[in-house]
Order: sequence, then structure tokens, then C-alpha cells
Amino acid sequence: MPALPRLELSRNAVDFVDDAYLEQLLRPPAPDAERIRDIVDKSLSKQALSLEETAELLRADDPKLVKDIFAAARQLKRELYGIRIVLFAPLYIGNDCVNDCKYCAFRRSNAEAVRRTLGSTELREQVVALENKGHKRLILVFGEHPAYDATFIADCVRNVYNTKVGRGEIRRVNINAAPMDVESYKIVKDAGIGTYQIFMETYHHETYGRMHPRNTRKGNYLYRLDGLDRAMQAGCDDVGIGALFGLYDWRFEVLGLVRHALHLQERFNVGPHTISFPRLRPACGIVPENETWQVTDNDFKRLVAILRLAVPYTGLILTAREPAELRREVMEFGVSQIDAGSRIEIGGYTETADAQVMEREQFSLGDIRSLDEVMHELVQDGYIPSFCTACYRLGRTGEHFMEFAIPGFIKRYCTPNALTTLMEYLVDYASPETRAAGERQVQSEIDKLPDDERKQKLIERLEQIKTSDKRDLYF
Ligand code: SAM
Ligand code: SF4
Repeated sequence: MPALPRLELSRNAVDFVDDAYLEQLLRPPAPDAERIRDIVDKSLSKQALSLEETAELLRADDPKLVKDIFAAARQLKRELYGIRIVLFAPLYIGNDCVNDCKYCAFRRSNAEAVRRTLGSTELREQVVALENKGHKRLILVFGEHPAYDATFIADCVRNVYNTKVGRGEIRRVNINAAPMDVESYKIVKDAGIGTYQIFMETYHHETYGRMHPRNTRKGNYLYRLDGLDRAMQAGCDDVGIGALFGLYDWRFEVLGLVRHALHLQERFNVGPHTISFPRLRPACGIVPENETWQVTDNDFKRLVAILRLAVPYTGLILTAREPAELRREVMEFGVSQIDAGSRIEIGGYTETADAQVMEREQFSLGDIRSLDEVMHELVQDGYIPSFCTACYRLGRTGEHFMEFAIPGFIKRYCTPNALTTLMEYLVDYASPETRAAGERQVQSEIDKLPDDERKQKLIERLEQIKTSDKRDLYF
């Protein structure tokens, strides 16, 4: 095994996760109903919670209090986010990996994994398949390997943006890849990425050490923890954090995520754009080592609701690792983005039809319904599925912040843009049933808008989408 290269940290990098303090916050008895009400009220007044307040919500085990927390998360979601939900798809580029993460099928010691990296033509084929389904937003996913350096990732991003078929195009490319040094982030940013996402996996130092052997790049806790600070330093101000739930106590990981969000906010004045909370899934060659920390469905719902209340302005991403029914339920608590029609085998959008192939994927998915099926369910459940990418493309970065900071922004921009991107999908890609249900949903949203100039403009644009080739008409 070659020696590991010297890993460069950000200026004044610090390990801001104090395990003993987080454990201590989780120890006292549960707070009473009145205290929970006070904390929830703070959150409903749209203020972020402190670490200590979040811990109090995490200690509330009584089913009645848990019910109150769910109700508050639902209310906050409705008041702040309304009924929009953004859709994206993951695109796995390559599964070569120099790390040996115990939970992941791509780990280097997994001899059963079929190793593959998409060539540029193969990448374009995957993108065409995704565009033909109606996708506009992708996240590219990479193992960690010297071949997947910043130049390679930037080339993949450009290749995706340049691949267009019919009325299809990808308008936003996010990244989930290994942490980099500052210069490398700049190269990737120049290719026009949206969010750079890195999951800490577990914030608990001892568990982190057991899951990620020391002689691997990922074995360095601080290098990973500091990964998004370096991204920020390089000018990528749109970053996503996450933890892999099931490696350690879920309540500790929620505190780790909130600590991380507060750290970025304090240091850079911008919190993370998104938080992801993947739950450990079965994967090729993985024998579950310890079931103690498995997160039950009820605790999963609790963690999403508490995150919603703790960081009201941060987007929450719920992936297709979870089964359809649970996704539907959890969405009510304030999830703002979901993936749909996802395939995570390399080449999976053209090669494996409806089957999941264990040797070729990183883990198995819980929800493998098509994009159209998910769109149909969403509109029937009263959501506005959105493919909007307007803010990011108009240079309104810190997009999420914008939405909430500017009074009336959601009504003036987000809702009309969600409706036009939904109409594009309905006209260009939807099945007849989804189109009919979707058009009813669009109409009912238009009926709710005040009769003003903007409403007229929106109606004109929706008509243009139906009757002409005009697309991408955002406010
Ligand atoms: N290789 C890069 C890294 O490790 O950060 C990026 C991509 S990795 C393929 C994406 C994420 O998948 C990991 O950060 C981890 O949280 C998640 N993952 C790995 N194994 C998993 C499993 N068995 N079940 C669910 N999620 C898993
Ligand atoms: Fe490699 Fe990422 Fe899987 Fe770890 S989680 S083995 S780094 S692909």
C-alpha cells in the first residue's frame, strides 16, 4: 500500500465535535411537555435551535411528546416550504475506491464488486436516458480514487451539461465525492456545480475509527470533517452535509449534524444548503456487524422531524434508500428534495431495466418506482413537484437563504417556477394519467394566486409550454 499523501487542511481547521459534551447533553431525563412546547415555539417562530435545545427534543421519548414534535414539524414545513418538492436523480460515475469503509460495497477489500467507471460516451448515454425520463437535476456520485481527481470530475460535469436530447437538458449538477484540497474544489466549481455534498458518516470519533481503517484516506477524521470548510474557502458556498444513520446512536448523529451546521454558519456566515440522513442499507458483501444502532422507522421519523425543527432554513434530502410508503410519510415533516426513478448500478439507467443487481451497486434501494409513478403520487397527494433551478442559474446563490430572507420570494419566484417546470414535465414526459392529475394540480394552484400581472404572465408561460417549443421560462 503506497504511503498516504500529506493532507492539507483549511486555515485554522478545528475538530469542533466534542463527543463527551454531546453524550452529556443526551443524558439528563426527558424534559416536560411545557419545555418541549417552548422549544417548538421557538422553532415555529423560524429561529434555529441551539445544540442544547435540539438535545432536549432528542430526549423526549414519551409518545405524546413525540406526537407534538411531529405535529410541529408538519406545521413548520407547511408554513415555510409550502407544498413544493424538488426532484433529482443520482448518477453513479465510478466505483473504484481506495478506501475500505466497512459498510460500503465499493470498499477496496470487496472482491465481489464489479469495478467500472463510465467513459464519456457511456456517461452521455446515461444522461440521455435520464433526460428522456424528464430529469433536470442530477447528483454525480464517485468512489474515492486517484483517477477521480478534480479535472476528471469537472470534465464529467461539463459533459453532462453539454448533453442535450430533444427538449431535455440537465440544468443543475451536484456532486457527492471525496473531500478535496482548496485548489481542486476551485477546478470543480469552475465547471458550474451546484451543491458539493460530503457525508461525515458518523460524527462519533471511536465509531469513525472502526468504520474507516487508519491506513486509508478516509481514515482521517479531521480531514473529512474539515472537507466542506475547504470547499467554502475555495468559493463553493453551496455545500451539503450528512450522516449515515445506523453506525452509532442516531441521537448523537443528529447533534453532530446540528453542530456541523452551526459551525459552518459561524465560520462562513452561510449554513449548509442541505442535510442528508441516509440509513444504512444491505449491500453486497456486507455482514451487519452490530445491530444495536439500527434506526427503527419511528426513530427515523423522529430524527427527520427534529432536524426540521432544529434548522428551519436548511433543505432536507430524503433518498430512495427508504421504502415508498415511509418516504410518503416523512415528506410531510419538511423534506424539501427527493430522488426518483433512481438506479445506482454504474450504467443502471440503460442496462439493468427494473432489476437491482447487488454486485454492481453500492447498496440496495428501497424505492425503485419510476419518476412518472412518483410524480403521479406527488400531485395526487397535493404537492407541486419542482425541477426549478432558476436561482442558481441567475446567480442568486445561497438559494435557500434567498427563499426565506426576502418577503414574498416564494410566492413571486418559487411557486411560479415550480409550476412552469412541472408543466414542462407534464407536456414533454408524463404518462396520460400523470398529465391529467398534474394539470388539475397546476390549475388549483393558479386559482389560489392573487389576480395580478404576475399571474397573467404565469398563465401565458404555461400556455406557451403547452403549445410551443419554448422551455426554461423562469422568473
Ligand atoms: N466515495 C465518496 C464518499 O465516501 O464520500 C462519495 C460517494 S459514497 C459512494 C456516497 C455515500 O453513500 C456515502 O457517503 C455513504 O453515506 C453512503 N453509503 C455507503 N454505503 C451505504 C450503505 N450500505 N447503505 C446506505 N448508504 C451507504
Ligand atoms: Fe469508497 Fe465512499 Fe464507499 Fe467509502 S463510502 S468505500 S469512500 S465509495
